[in-house]
Amino acid sequence: MIVVLTGAPGAGKGTQADMIASRAGFRKVSTGDALRKHVQIKSLIGQQAEAVMARGELVSDEILFEILREELGPNPEEKILLDGYPRNVAQAKTLNSLGKVHPVVLAIHLDVDASELVTRLSGRRVCGNCGATFHVRLTPTKASGICDKCGGSLQQRTDDREESVRTRLSVYDSTTKPVLEYYREKGLYDRVDGKGTTEEVFSKLNASLNRLGLT
Ligand code: AMP
Repeated sequence: MIVVLTGAPGAGKGTQADMIASRAGFRKVSTGDALRKHVQIKSLIGQQAEAVMARGELVSDEILFEILREELGPNPEEKILLDGYPRNVAQAKTLNSLGKVHPVVLAIHLDVDASELVTRLSGRRVCGNCGATFHVRLTPTKASGICDKCGGSLQQRTDDREESVRTRLSVYDSTTKPVLEYYREKGLYDRVDGKGTTEEVFSKLNASLNRLGLT
């Protein structure tokens, strides 16, 4: 079964998805991570997606369907935490159509104020080696530009630059927000306040999963 973790770019979905995966026995599936891997290895999908992602726009539903099939796999027993999908109502319906093997049992909205999102995204830095995420002001590394975990060098994601951030937030408002309503109507929606430390937010998410006996 699938728990969808949804919310605006910068809400902290990736970090929280990692914590839920390691502490609550879920396998994290991130369509953004999968796409970035395709870009890195310069696969056909990667070549088609790279420029679209850098602009902060959405990659086509067809490509995402391929990614989704590849990433979800055939095992109905798995607890999957889905980060970054669905990003529009058509994708939510596609996911619903896979419900025999992978039913969505809960969609958690990690909710963070718009002003906070811009701060979080523009200061975010990612290790080019191990993928760890830091923030220049909120969670700075000991040595500037160097990953605390592995010593790799930190980079800014191309889509965290100002112009792309603006596009991503507006795409979220116009295209992804209706997905919340889709799950609300199905009785699968829960909202978690994304303010606070990563540990504080994690315990709120954990409580949401607990209510359904999912941890
Ligand atoms: P993320 O890491 O989830 O912020 O995703 C990074 C970028 O990958 C997004 O800005 C989109 O360009 C693309 N992407 C990831 N997931 C999807 C999706 N479900 N639909 C369309 N594009 C996606």
